[in-house]
Amino acid sequence: MALIVQKYGGSSVADTESIKRVAKRVVETEKKGNKVAVVVSAMGDTTDDLIDQALSIDSNPPEREMDMLMTAGERISMSLLAMAIHAEGSRAHSFTGQQAGFFTDARYGAAHIKAVRPDRVKNALSLGDIAIVAGFQGINAKGDATTLGRGGSDTSAVALAVALGADICEIYTDVDGVFTADPRIVPSARRIPSIDYESILEMASCGSKVLALRCVEYAQRFNMPLHVRSSFSRRPGTLVVPDGIDPRTLPNLD
Ligand code: ADP
Ligand code: ASP
Ligand code: MG
Repeated sequence: MALIVQKYGGSSVADTESIKRVAKRVVETEKKGNKVAVVVSAMGDTTDDLIDQALSIDSNPPEREMDMLMTAGERISMSLLAMAIHAEGSRAHSFTGQQAGFFTDARYGAAHIKAVRPDRVKNALSLGDIAIVAGFQGINAKGDATTLGRGGSDTSAVALAVALGADICEIYTDVDGVFTADPRIVPSARRIPSIDYESILEMASCGSKVLALRCVEYAQRFNMPLHVRSSFSRRPGTLVVPDGIDPRTLPNLD
């Protein structure tokens, strides 16, 4: 039995139909005999919409209140996904960043993860439940909500995978993996079946949006294998595997 962390980005949970589709894929992974923890982003453009609303009230809103507001997006998707999994006949339990034990520094809007102590997530998994965790968020030493910077759910997923000792962290998005260039801009771009941390780090630091920079740094530091793939297709995606691990030994590659 493998322990798998799956992260679904905003494009994969953009509406309730998409959430139901994601729930089916999560349950399918569980039914294959795996333990599954899921990290979700906010639905579609929710985070942008929340920021626009704040700015329509105050052009320079208090940072603390901005983070309080932005963490709301992921709470919506986590609870709806838990409901959709229940509707599929499996048990799921959702957790905010705080409940999942994400402790960060005090930098509102760009907080760094200091520690992840996912006791409640572990407990849910040990009871046979699927755990759903809100990405992009944690709490600071004062107990206030913080966010990790745009695209931060990727980092939440890797940090959770490391803290749980997962076998793999799967990043589900709206393209079939990592390409030689953004496939939406360069139609001739090719999918890269397997890539090392250094090369993908370089792509992320050059502004490629497919994975957040800090997520790749975190995965490299802790040798966490990544599988970037589409939630809209069954195609194989891109593997990022540490030296010395045979990719064929990784779980859930089909
Ligand atoms: P998610 O909502 O799943 O987090 P993002 O929008 O953050 O998705 O990232 C996926 C997008 O990254 C793709 O739709 C694609 O346009 C873009 N992208 C940029 N560079 C690349 C690349 N080299 N390979 C794949 N996708 C890329
Ligand atoms: N919802 C956040 C954002 O839009 C985090 C994420 O999607 O990773 O940046
Ligand atoms: Mg993203």
